[in-house]
Amino acid sequence: MQINLTQVLPCHLKCSFCVSKKNLIPKTRYDLENFITVVDICTKYGIYNFDLTPHIGEFLLDEQFMSKMLFLESNKKVKTWNFVTNFLPDNPAFYILIPEFSKGTINISIYGLSQKQYIETTGKDMFSKFCNNLWFTITKAEELKKKLKTINLYTRYNNSPLDSESYIIFLLDELKKLGATEDITEIHNKNWGGLIESDFIGKEKNGICQHSICDNGIFPNGDMTLCNCWDTFKTLSLGNIFNKSLKSIYSENSKFGELIKGQMFGKYTGICEKCNDFELVDINSIEIDWLKKYKKIIKQTREQR
Ligand code: SF4
Ligand code: SF4
Repeated sequence: MQINLTQVLPCHLKCSFCVSKKNLIPKTRYDLENFITVVDICTKYGIYNFDLTPHIGEFLLDEQFMSKMLFLESNKKVKTWNFVTNFLPDNPAFYILIPEFSKGTINISIYGLSQKQYIETTGKDMFSKFCNNLWFTITKAEELKKKLKTINLYTRYNNSPLDSESYIIFLLDELKKLGATEDITEIHNKNWGGLIESDFIGKEKNGICQHSICDNGIFPNGDMTLCNCWDTFKTLSLGNIFNKSLKSIYSENSKFGELIKGQMFGKYTGICEKCNDFELVDINSIEIDWLKKYKKIIKQTREQR
């Protein structure tokens, strides 16, 4: 299981698929003390993996991002942490530090393979800045004889024709030579739980969504949501961790239990109903004890649908 420490931060970009364009919700961020408290609550319960990607915004624009990363990196109970970044901030110290992480993964969003494509996706002319930061990271790693296995590249652009001479293809190849991995995501097609218009149909919903198990989020005030990815208005609210224990929030007779059992039998409520980002859960990865007893039913129901 992984918990997202959900923040709403500023961002340099105005991506076509992003709800930030609508300025719907105010900024909200963890101060360091609160961040440490929430991580401790999670690790005491048995959750050791953390996602720092803001619900909206750029994690590197959190003025305490370095302290938060280093706290997770040095916390003996934490197994992994990661975040997605647009890689635009001016922060040489961070770019030099990337190869040193032993638990962290830096997921870099590639919003285009040319300046034109990048502007089409993000609404901003920051392609050169992005390429410069990639080049700086590569040259520093090479200079210091380090690998970049802690980098994962998320390709997130529309399928308009590519320029085969693109400078960024060279940069991506260099990153991969240094150990960076690559994931093809289709985030530009997502409808943000129905808040954004999209022609993309997405996968048919037929069981429990992977995101509702692996992407639960906790906001700085303790509110939890089933889906940190898209639940801007907390329509999938699970309760507040400062009023309830995580044990009771994750119990079978809880809001979480109700939502998960609903999905198990084909009932999708709140934003799940219109969301086009459904991913079928991998039954073998389920770590919640009471849910394991339903594995057979989950499998059967799925085959019938
Ligand atoms: S999708 Fe991410 S990078 Fe793009 S505007 Fe939204 S918060 Fe910023
Ligand atoms: S269906 Fe969509 S909103 Fe619901 S949990 Fe999955 S990704 Fe999140």
